[in-house]
Amino acid sequence: MSTEVMLNEFKEISQHPYRVLSQYKQEGKKVIGVLPYYAPVELVVAAGMVPMGIWGSNSKTISMAKEYCATFYCTIAQLALEMLLDGTLDQLDGIITPTICDTLRPMSQNIRVAMSEKLPCIFLAHPQNRKPSFGLQFTMDQYNHVKAELEKISGSAITDEALREAIKVMNRNRAARREFVKLAGEHPETISAVTRSAVLRAAWFMEPVAYAQKLEALNAQLSALPVQPWKGRKVVTSGIICDNPKLLQIFDDNKIAIAADDVAHESRAIRVDAAETGDPMMALAQQFADQDYDVLLYDEHSNQNRRADYVVDLVKKSGAQGLVLFMQQFCDPEEMEYPYLKKALDDAGIPHIKLGIDQQMRDFGQASTAIQAFADVL
Ligand code: SF4
Repeated sequence: MSTEVMLNEFKEISQHPYRVLSQYKQEGKKVIGVLPYYAPVELVVAAGMVPMGIWGSNSKTISMAKEYCATFYCTIAQLALEMLLDGTLDQLDGIITPTICDTLRPMSQNIRVAMSEKLPCIFLAHPQNRKPSFGLQFTMDQYNHVKAELEKISGSAITDEALREAIKVMNRNRAARREFVKLAGEHPETISAVTRSAVLRAAWFMEPVAYAQKLEALNAQLSALPVQPWKGRKVVTSGIICDNPKLLQIFDDNKIAIAADDVAHESRAIRVDAAETGDPMMALAQQFADQDYDVLLYDEHSNQNRRADYVVDLVKKSGAQGLVLFMQQFCDPEEMEYPYLKKALDDAGIPHIKLGIDQQMRDFGQASTAIQAFADVL
């Protein structure tokens, strides 16, 4: 299959998750919606069900969700609820609601109130202190709760063997995505910013094995290409999510390639694998404990500004000339961390811009002007 055909398939899936969901249901599969962040999708896979990421929507408008949400909730959370309320996600068999930020905590209860008669809502609280033994135990207790709820939906027990197998599947899936991110940075002439996003977005909708197989085939073709000199600029992107094709088209129009990312929807979600041997539930708890350099996670050494240094290092190692920060409106964790990131970037002499975005944006004129001006600076 040609590279172009594979890329078009990823684009198609990325643009039409509803069709993908319907297809799974026609095949008799059970599908579990998974809200951000750090939900153990391995448990869903081990239960023989399909995990489907819910990261808001670029095409919906908030209407019914207003009844449940304060206006200062981010659009990702509000549009997730909107899709649950307006029937878009009626075919789901359940939903996992992590509660890692101050918006998702109340939102998990809004979803429960709004949806519990329609579908099971599985509450998931991650511990703030995730590394000490009591934190690991807390995570395991929570994951055991998720496991029990998933077993009720699937109708069968999740064995340790099935969970170990699911860990291998997800490790393979993450490895393929990490490799793709690297290859996309090396081959911007083939992988545009729009295409890169579509491939990574499709990961949240496709069955993990099928996605890994397809992406490994694409990676093999990309790695066989000679690295060509890039006449444009390269940047690192940072933020929660940037998957709007119209916004990313501005990057392509200005010959700005994405060399690497520090985006929650993309690389932050795939940095850490779980151990494939030993107690599989402990492996998942340890995987969460090993997550790092994320504004959403407690850092006992936060006075050292490790996360901002990590991002600066990422820019330097990726060969990018600057950083573009997509700041989600009303996202407190990202906004509070910004001054520290700015300081580290300024100290390192790395130019950056901060683009305020939300998922109801339809006019990108201002962003276009800012990106063009940034391209000139670079
Ligand atoms: S965008 Fe920010 S506020 Fe919204 S769910 Fe994500 S972390 Fe929470």
